[in-house]
Amino acid sequence: MVRINPDKPSTANTTKPSELDAVLKAQRAAFNTNPNPDWPSRKAKLETLRDLILGHEDEFVKAISDDFGHRAVEDTLISEFLVIQGGISHAIKHTPKWMKTRKAPTALQYKPARNVIIPQPLGVIGIISPWNYPLQLAIMPLVGALGAGNRAMIKPSEYTPRMSELLKEVLSKGFTDDEVFVATGGVDVASAFSNLNFDHLVFTGSTSVGRIVGEAAGKNLVPVTLELGGKSPVIIDESANMKLTVPRITNGKLLNAGQTCVAPDYVIMPEAKINSFADAMIEQAESFYPTVAGNDDYTTIIADGHYARLQDLLEDAENKGAKIRTAGDDDKQQLAKERRVPLTVVTDTTPDMKIMQEEIFGPLLPIVAAESLDEALDTVQKGERPLALYWFGEDKKKRDKVLRESISGGVSVNETAWHVVQEDIPFGGVGPSGMGAYHGEDGFKSFSHMKGVFIQSKFSQGKNLFPPYTDKTRKMIGLMKKIL
Ligand code: NAD
Repeated sequence: MVRINPDKPSTANTTKPSELDAVLKAQRAAFNTNPNPDWPSRKAKLETLRDLILGHEDEFVKAISDDFGHRAVEDTLISEFLVIQGGISHAIKHTPKWMKTRKAPTALQYKPARNVIIPQPLGVIGIISPWNYPLQLAIMPLVGALGAGNRAMIKPSEYTPRMSELLKEVLSKGFTDDEVFVATGGVDVASAFSNLNFDHLVFTGSTSVGRIVGEAAGKNLVPVTLELGGKSPVIIDESANMKLTVPRITNGKLLNAGQTCVAPDYVIMPEAKINSFADAMIEQAESFYPTVAGNDDYTTIIADGHYARLQDLLEDAENKGAKIRTAGDDDKQQLAKERRVPLTVVTDTTPDMKIMQEEIFGPLLPIVAAESLDEALDTVQKGERPLALYWFGEDKKKRDKVLRESISGGVSVNETAWHVVQEDIPFGGVGPSGMGAYHGEDGFKSFSHMKGVFIQSKFSQGKNLFPPYTDKTRKMIGLMKKIL
């Protein structure tokens, strides 16, 4: 997978590696004085977090927009604030149950002993987050970490320096450094951060940096949750209701100007329907965003390098024979000046085009022909296992075949992206799109040690297996063999 960030901005305020070490030490020492916080103290932390983040909504909206160039206010409210609020409310409602000691069955031969599982905080959780949803992707792992009774250190992306500084300032109003700490700075700080001896490290970002982070964590045997990217396909079946399908794909693709880990990356559909679908997508985009240049509803591409990379993907596809349709008729120079890219549908694609090889991460939508469901599934399987897969259609047999036979981090059926905000199902990738999962109870479990405990009874028959071994022992073994 090609790395998404071709240029590196600098940041003024940088956390020093020695400070990172000192904070980790302080957090671990503080954790050791209270290694299993009770529910009232965890709840208070979650409420503090909620009040601090929601209480600074306007400042965060502005900081994120300034970091992007322009970020639609509603894009931030929908994709950052609603998600965070939903995640914290869910955690406050359910954590008391999740943190309880759970009874587990005990096999007949070990009875009357009992088994239990005790969820236990791990200690200090490291969180490295990307720029595309800079607040949500720093806070959602923190919700899981705090709910599970941990302390946490966060390193947001160097591409959102204003948001990172604000996050540091806001969180320091409610948390001491030995509870929650925000590190700021560039890749050098992120790299030092990923080498710290955390009790668990959550990394959200590209697959290529995920490999580096996984290796760094592996050296310290730090367990990792890797939330990575990839090319998330959309399969449109002949049975799909196109009146519902077209706006849902357009919305999923254009939210945050396509800079979404689970954005539909490319579409697979029968050849005969490609042209009418491509035209309908363009028409839909023009109805959502009548102009793109100067439109406050439309988010800009984060940096010049990212803009140039998208233009390069298009040029490469065009040079190799692709047909390009662009929404609207905005002045190209103005669009470039604003770093805004309208929906661009790319047809007549071939596998040698870069746009069919790299994660796109922008509002370009290539379409691939497949005449049958098997061919569509084959196209998906030839690529790396994606973070998300979308299927549109009404034929339930085909839907079930897709769900059974395709492998992806998650799926939305007749929708794009919404599976990500369901707190009752795990969110995570598979293979090159990630490992581990979080959100809801899955986050709680990822940031807890689910400790298995066996409690022996005074009536245990285990003494029958003590040495010296006699006929009585062998009889006992025979008896156990019969009941296993
Ligand atoms: P990125 O991999 O460039 O950066 C992510 C984070 O890693 C940043 O905080 C950065 O500072 C840090 N980093 C960079 N180099 C590092 C190094 N050598 N060692 C340690 N840390 C380092 O990703 P990005 O450009 O910020 O985000 C885009 C990518 O993230 C896309 O691939 C997208 O699909 C993926 N993503 C995934 C999810 C998910 O939940 N699975 C969510 C959002 C984005």
